[in-house]
Formats: sequence, C-alpha cells, structure tokens
Amino acid sequence: QLTVEDTIQWLKQFNDRLSEQKDYLSQLDRAIGDGDHGINMARGFQQVAEGLDGDFDEVSDVLKKTATTVMSKVGGASGPLYGTAFLKMSMECKGKDVDAAVLADMVEAALGGIKQRGKSEEGEKTMIDVWAPVLGTLQEEDFDAERLKQTAEEAMQKTEDMTATKGRASYFKEKSQGHLDPGAVSSYYLFAELADVIG
Ligand code: ADP
Ligand code: MG
Ligand code: MG
Repeated sequence: QLTVEDTIQWLKQFNDRLSEQKDYLSQLDRAIGDGDHGINMARGFQQVAEGLDGDFDEVSDVLKKTATTVMSKVGGASGPLYGTAFLKMSMECKGKDVDAAVLADMVEAALGGIKQRGKSEEGEKTMIDVWAPVLGTLQEEDFDAERLKQTAEEAMQKTEDMTATKGRASYFKEKSQGHLDPGAVSSYYLFAELADVIG
C-alpha cells in the first residue's frame, strides 16, 4: 500500500538523489548527448519537491501535480517523457488505493505513454530499458523491494552495451556503446527510491 505520505517521500528522496548525482548524470549525457540530463532533472524535481508541501487527497493528485511541474520545468527530451509517465500513473490510480496490483498497472500505463511519446521501444538504449523490466518485476506475484531495486539496477547496467537508436545518443551510433544511458540511470534512481519507500 502506497499512501500519499509515501508518494511524497518517494519524490523527495528522488529529488535528493538527483541533486546529489546531478554532475554524474550530466557527465553521462556529455558522452552520448548534450550534457544536460543532470541539470534538467535536478532543476525540474527541485520544483516538484517544493510543490509537495500542500494538502493532497489521494496519490493521484500528488502524481498529477508532479506531472505538470515536470512537463514545464525539466525540459529536453526527458521532460515530456517523465511528464507523460507521471501523468499516466496519476490517471491510472485515480480514486484507487495503491496496492501492488495498482502500482503495476500504473507503471504499465506510464511505460505505454513513454513509448508512444518517444516513438520508441525496448532495446534502443533509453529509459524504457529500465521501465520495461521493472514492470515485469512489479507484475510478479510476490516481488519485494529488494528485487525491484535489483531489477532496475541490472537493467540500467545493461544499457552500457546497447547501441542507441533514439534521442540524441542515436547520432553517436556504435560510438554510443560502452556508455550508460543517462535516462536509464535517472530511472534507476526513481525505482531505487520507490523500493526504499515501500521496503
Ligand atoms: P535531451 O536529449 O533533449 O538533452 P535529456 O538529456 O534530459 O534530454 O534526456 C536524455 C534521455 O532521454 C536519454 O538518456 C534517454 O533515456 C531519454 N530519451 C531520449 N529520447 C527518447 C525517446 N525517443 N524515447 C525514450 N527515451 C528517450
Ligand atoms: Mg541531454
Ligand atoms: Mg538537451
């Protein structure tokens, strides 16, 4: 069961993690992009965190507010993609208590939204390569927080050997190999903090 308080905690921890890892994420993006992923994410989620002090009736409302802020403040390719993900999660859990089954449905909806918005699929060295395996784990009958975190971490690591075919990294073609995808790393942080909150 993910409560309103848990959701706020999750987003605050994600923001803390992004601000700690801002330079690292931008460094990853310098290798196969334009070097702004850390700046984009840290700036946007700082705004998200600052907007979480109000009153929220349900988890859906927290995620909706997050989506709006992310869309307008993160920027780059990742802003609309994360924004869509949070919006889809918000829509999926509207009026519901967020148990494990609802959480899986939320991530499924988010992944669908990212794919549609990015016109992308698994195996293209993007954040999708973390979201898709995480969904698989959340759909398992008896997953636990440790397994969630481990799935996200392994999936993030696997982007290193992939060749990018979407986003700026695709301009690097085979030269994108040997570098982690920055959006996969930020997505790993998102699910590692979720695991921490539900664990
Ligand atoms: P930009 O590339 O505009 O500078 P960011 O650096 O903030 O944006 O984000 C780059 C990340 O966005 C990539 O590492 C990748 O994970 C993700 N990304 C980019 N394009 C796509 C896409 N079409 N589908 C899914 N994810 C994408
Ligand atoms: Mg970038
Ligand atoms: Mg950019």
